[in-house]
Amino acid sequence: MPQTNLLATPAAARPWEQPWWRPAPGKGVVFFYLVLIHLLAIAGLVLFPLPGWRIFGLVLLLGGLGGLGTTVGYHRLLAHRTLKLNRIVEQLLIFAAMFNGSGAPASWVAYHRLHHSHTDTEHDISSPSHGGFWWAHLRWLYQSAPADPARWCSELDRGSFRFWRYAEIPVLLLSLCCGLVLGWPGFFWIGAIRLVYALHAQCLVNSLTHLGESGRRDRSQNVWWLGPLQLAAWGENWHGNHHAAAGLARLGRRWWQVDIGWYFICAMEKLGLASQVKRPAVR
Ligand SMILES: [Zn+2]
Ligand SMILES: [Zn+2]
Repeated sequence: MPQTNLLATPAAARPWEQPWWRPAPGKGVVFFYLVLIHLLAIAGLVLFPLPGWRIFGLVLLLGGLGGLGTTVGYHRLLAHRTLKLNRIVEQLLIFAAMFNGSGAPASWVAYHRLHHSHTDTEHDISSPSHGGFWWAHLRWLYQSAPADPARWCSELDRGSFRFWRYAEIPVLLLSLCCGLVLGWPGFFWIGAIRLVYALHAQCLVNSLTHLGESGRRDRSQNVWWLGPLQLAAWGENWHGNHHAAAGLARLGRRWWQVDIGWYFICAMEKLGLASQVKRPAVR
């Protein structure tokens, strides 16, 4: 992989040295969104601490589907091409991921391929090795220069993938506000509270699972206890496994390493909707 400096100016070359409240050029809207959902989530928890089972069930369902969208659709399918998937299922997973706040597929895949190519070096814009935990967890989202989809995933610059880029803000607005049909508790819980939970669950994959032994070239690690807490990640806590063999569709390696994304892929394969699945040797 070319090692060109991905960030043009000296100030932007080490963006983690900027004050935390200063977004990168063009990222003001991301910063605004992050502040907004956190404020709304806090307000919702204070005003409606108990939303009722119907609303809570919908939060779990949408969060779970969004997690599948990200881990299977964005990560294992589009970023690493570890399987082939029916086009309708693919598009549904993309919608679920965008509804969960994961952004458009091309920008996610571009960031992710950059991350694997430059893992835990200064060019890895989401690594905690240089900026620390909060940089890797949230700050890189609004303080780093965008990864260029034309360079990292030019195959996604076509057809429906272009459509999803333009649909990002409308889908997010729908996601944030649709719960209002169930009243104000629905608005806060199905909107901001779900989005904040999904955000932090997935951001822990960038931050915590890259805080393995310092000094190593690649600090990725498995974090087993993140699994049960991570409704929206579905196996992504086996991140050390993933970095060791990024071309495999399965992130768990042992039978006890629960990997919901993998079980979903196996189900799709049984139904004839997935094929050419890259699986590890059986243990
Ligand atoms: Zn990683
Ligand atoms: Zn990956």
